Amino acid sequence: MTGSGTGGPRGPGWPSAASTVVGVIGDPVAHSLSPLLHNTAFEHLGLDWVSLGFRVPAGAAPAALAGVRGLGLAGLSVTMPHKAVVAELVDERTPIAQRLGAVNCVVNRDGHLVGTNTDGQGFVESLVRGTGLDPAGKRAVVVGAGGAARAVVVALSDAGISEIVVVARRPEAAAAAASLAVRGRVGSARDAPEADLVVNATPIGMAGNGSGIQIPVVPAEALGRGQVVVDLIYEPAETEWMAGAAQRGAVVLGGLGMLVHQAAAQLALWTGLDPPVVSMWEAASSARSERA
Ligand code: NAP
Repeated sequence: MTGSGTGGPRGPGWPSAASTVVGVIGDPVAHSLSPLLHNTAFEHLGLDWVSLGFRVPAGAAPAALAGVRGLGLAGLSVTMPHKAVVAELVDERTPIAQRLGAVNCVVNRDGHLVGTNTDGQGFVESLVRGTGLDPAGKRAVVVGAGGAARAVVVALSDAGISEIVVVARRPEAAAAAASLAVRGRVGSARDAPEADLVVNATPIGMAGNGSGIQIPVVPAEALGRGQVVVDLIYEPAETEWMAGAAQRGAVVLGGLGMLVHQAAAQLALWTGLDPPVVSMWEAASSARSERA
């Protein structure tokens, strides 16, 4: 059900029984910026749609997906710890969800749930928009081998990167991530100075990530002029690692753009409309500033 004109049908009585609902599932979920990103876009597009966060503990994803079908939610955004299990629960996986074994977006097509993954697309769109770097023909180092690293490896490989080196503390996880790329291999911090692009896909440096000292897998001292350095972390806006790389002359980019672009891609899949990326960015950026 859609409203008309920018600003949409907000006001007393909204959302109503006619509103279309999408959800964000995760645990924790209370601090997720995804509902804000989606709702900003829905309002900008004049849609009578609403996005809500649902705290779904580990193990409860099957019940949540039954709820999507039973309640007729139009779609889901999926975050930790459910991305891998939701990939097993949907009726159909897109090729990217199949390759990653992880779903961050579910589209409900009349009760048939299609799972896909927009994280890698969000990363590349943010990279190009934020730094102007075209990955084609470049060399990249990806630090970490978890879900985000794997999405970045696949997206960069598909974007024509000439080589991807995965650097992680567990060699078997690094090898599995590197194997997702056409030209991927396991490496070490010594590979970083030769790379055009270096991406941190670990939580080291993230706000609230424990009080112990955490040593970056690739130190900022290994980075510098002529390189693009991306930290997927978006809180804080600038990690110490990014600041160190910037001081040494690297072009640096934080993770908020990826968050915005992966949400924008979800929105496009649900609604079939062009997402208002600038409005979404502004909303997320000011919410982050208020929390800092
Ligand atoms: P994940 O699946 O848990 O993977 C984390 C990776 O970091 C693993 O390879 C892990 O190694 C490694 N790691 C964790 N602590 C480490 C330490 N102290 N030293 C060395 N390596 C360490 O997490 P994820 O979902 O990939 O997320 C990774 C980061 O990306 C998080 O900061 C997350 O907030 C961010 N992220 C951002 C976006 C965005 O839109 N901007 C999207 C997704 C994720 P082990 O496997 O050995 O533990």
